[in-house]
Amino acid sequence: MTSNSKNDTLFARAQKTTPGGVNSPVRAFRSVGGTPRFITRAEGPYFWDADGKRYIDYIGSWGPAIVGHAHPEVVAAVQQAAARGLSFGAPTEGEIEMAEEIHRLVPSIEQVRLVSSGTEATMSALRLARGATGRDKIIKFEGCYHGHADSLLVKAGSGLLTFGNPTSAGVPEDFVKHTLVLDYNNVEQLQDAFDSFGAEIACVIVEPVAGNMNLIKAKPEFLQAMRALCTQHGAILIFDEVMCGFRVALGGAQALYGIQPDLTALGKVIGGGLPVAAFGGSAALMHNMAPLGGVYQAGTLSGNPVAVAAGMTTLKLIQAPGFYEALGATAARLAQGLTAAAKEAGVAFCADSIGGMFGIYFSATVPTSYAEMMAGDRSKFNTFFHAMLDEGVYFAPAAFEAGFVSAQHDDAVIDATIEAARRVFAKLA
Ligand code: PLP
Repeated sequence: MTSNSKNDTLFARAQKTTPGGVNSPVRAFRSVGGTPRFITRAEGPYFWDADGKRYIDYIGSWGPAIVGHAHPEVVAAVQQAAARGLSFGAPTEGEIEMAEEIHRLVPSIEQVRLVSSGTEATMSALRLARGATGRDKIIKFEGCYHGHADSLLVKAGSGLLTFGNPTSAGVPEDFVKHTLVLDYNNVEQLQDAFDSFGAEIACVIVEPVAGNMNLIKAKPEFLQAMRALCTQHGAILIFDEVMCGFRVALGGAQALYGIQPDLTALGKVIGGGLPVAAFGGSAALMHNMAPLGGVYQAGTLSGNPVAVAAGMTTLKLIQAPGFYEALGATAARLAQGLTAAAKEAGVAFCADSIGGMFGIYFSATVPTSYAEMMAGDRSKFNTFFHAMLDEGVYFAPAAFEAGFVSAQHDDAVIDATIEAARRVFAKLA
């Protein structure tokens, strides 16, 4: 960027009144260095920054923009809902319709509570699991992100089967001493944990397709073992499908793997770009929630009518015949094209995809765990990221993030991305 770039000016200004200049840390480019782009508008597969430069967008607002940015039907639904009033703090028929639609598409969710962020969804699901079982201990997996509730900001402890350490200042040791952090895709560790603590474990929470340590797919036997162990020991299985729900398949990862969790957290796509998230499961389990049961949870803007209108319209659009086949083919075309381009240039690189999600890795093989993902060449990724940005292609600004395509990323957009990558890989070799 030139020294009189508006992005630079805005970033300097933002840092005066906002910590790090951003309202969510990954936006700050700390991992890749440089100035974050300040976005002025978005349409279809593109967005434009403050200098007027256009980018092919592969983050899609970190998942929600599955039908493409500013889809005319979503925009119209939002405008119409807004004209009827922004928020009532009393129930609406739209919330019932959304609950019914979620139940129809994800049958394990008999009852659902709408909230405003994925963090709220997982935090509340945890509270429900603990409230319903009367147990405190939870299991999570290294590299899975479930939002920023205290019990979940935890990394592995000093040894296997020791409880975790906080990953954030401000999280008391006392909060995380109940959280056991295990390796993703490691069935043996899971078995050991249940052998040691089975009767004390309230729940296991997992991203059934992980998208916060780049893209890492669960091995089917890992999720099957988790399901069996939770059932055997009376623990609740929570699938955090905030990212992969309605992203890897219409019924989410649980439909793809054929495994039914007890609770599911949803977010991102179900809000279509506005703040809607949800958690739900069997009616019996959900009856533990206030006002019926003793587990408290609430929200001033929960089920907000404008946000629900955006979400419902998005849920309708993704049910068009062939939607997921096309989305999956788009992500696969990108992954295969990038891999071939890197191979031509002799760069150690691979890529993977599932539904509308993809991962790009500067390593010889696709990782299956956090440790394997961290072994990739991050400095090569950073160089690649910036060179692609110059080419007008916006990948997630960190090597640990998955990427997303939308229904508006057509073959020409994907092929332009691959052509740009071919030029970049040639320089990287
Ligand atoms: N769970 C998963 C799997 C996520 O990817 C995220 C956010 O990226 C969250 C939870 C938290 O959602 P939110 O950022 O809406 O609080």
